[in-house]
Amino acid sequence: MPAADFDMNEIHWLMDMFNTVDVGLVVLDRDYKVCVWNGFMENHSGLLPSAVKDKDLFDLFPSIDEKWFRGKSESVFVLKNRSFTIWEQQPYIFKFKNYRPITGKAEYMYQNATFIPLTTTTGEVAHICVIIYDVTDEAMNKLELEEANKQLEQLSRTDSLTKLTNRGFWEEGLRREFKRLKRNQGCSTLLMFDIDHFKRINDEHGHSGGDMAIRHVADLLKKTLRETDTAGRYGGEEFAVTLIDTDEEGATIFAERLRVLIEKSVIFYDEQQIKITVSVGIAQYDAEFTKHEEWIEATDIALYASKEHGRNRVTRFEPSMKKTAK
Ligand code: GH3
Ligand code: MG
Ligand code: MG
Repeated sequence: MPAADFDMNEIHWLMDMFNTVDVGLVVLDRDYKVCVWNGFMENHSGLLPSAVKDKDLFDLFPSIDEKWFRGKSESVFVLKNRSFTIWEQQPYIFKFKNYRPITGKAEYMYQNATFIPLTTTTGEVAHICVIIYDVTDEAMNKLELEEANKQLEQLSRTDSLTKLTNRGFWEEGLRREFKRLKRNQGCSTLLMFDIDHFKRINDEHGHSGGDMAIRHVADLLKKTLRETDTAGRYGGEEFAVTLIDTDEEGATIFAERLRVLIEKSVIFYDEQQIKITVSVGIAQYDAEFTKHEEWIEATDIALYASKEHGRNRVTRFEPSMKKTAK
C-alpha cells in the first residue's frame, strides 16, 4: 500500500474509532467554543457536530455550571495538567437523558470527566479535550447500596411489631442522655412500664391477641409523647421512655395520663374485648448514678414496687426502696 493511502486509511480508522468509542470527546478552544464533537456526544445530545461547531459551550448547554467549569478548565489551560471530576462532586456536566435499560431508574446520565490539555508542536495549550464517561451503572449501584444500608439501619433500630425503637437503640439514646446530664446537669426522668398479667391475655386470646395488645399500647404511647422524648420497646411487654428535661413531678403527670388512657381503652380482638392495665416505675436522673444502667435499675425497682402494691399504678423511685424490693 502506498504511504499516502496508508495515511488516509489511518485517518479514516481514527475517525471511525473517534466516532464509535463509548466515551464523549469534546475539544474546546480558549473561548470555550466547540471545535470537535464525537459520535457519543452527538447521540446523547441529539446535536450534530455541524450544529455545535464554533458555538459557545455555555450557550449550547445553559445547564452547565459556567463558573465551576471555567475554574476547572483554566487550570488545565494554564498549568497544562490534567484534571478530573467525579459524579459524586457533580452528577453530570452535560445533562443527557439516561436511556439505559438496566439503570433506567436514573433520570440523567451520571458522568465522570477528564480534562486534558492539548499541546501544539510548540508546547502551547490553546485547546483542551473533555472526556465524558457514562458512569450511570456505577452511580446507581452505589446509590442503591447506600439506600439499602439506610433502610437496614432503620430496620435494625426499629422493633417490627410496634415500630418503636428497639431496646438496643433506645438504650444507646439513654446512654447519650446520661452523658449529657453528667456534663451539663439538668433533669430528665426515666419511665418504664410493663403490662399487667400479660400471660393471661396470651392465654385467653392467643399470641396474636397478645401481639395486638402490645401494638395497641405502643400506639397509645406514641400519641402521648413529645417530640424530644424517646420511647422504646424494652422487652416483650415492657416499654421505656426517656423524658428529656422533665423532673419527676412532670413525669408523674405524664405517667398517670398514660396509665389512665391505657386503662380506659378497649381492644377489640376476634369479637372479644381485651382490657389491659400497666404498672409504671419512674426515676429522675440522680448525679450519684455512675452509669446509665443504675438509672434503669432504679426505674425497674420503682416498677417492681408498683407490681407489689397491686399493679395498675405509678411509683416513683426512692433510695429506701433499694433494700426492700427484689
Ligand atoms: P405481671 O403483671 O407481673 O407483669 O405479669 P405478666 O403475666 O405480665 O408476667 P410477665 O411480664 O413475666 O410475662 C410476660 C409474658 O409476655 C411472657 C411472654 O410469654 C409474653 N410475651 C413476651 N413477648 C411477647 C410478644 O412479643 N408477643 C406476645 N403475644 N407475648 C409476648
Ligand atoms: Mg407483665
Ligand atoms: Mg414483663
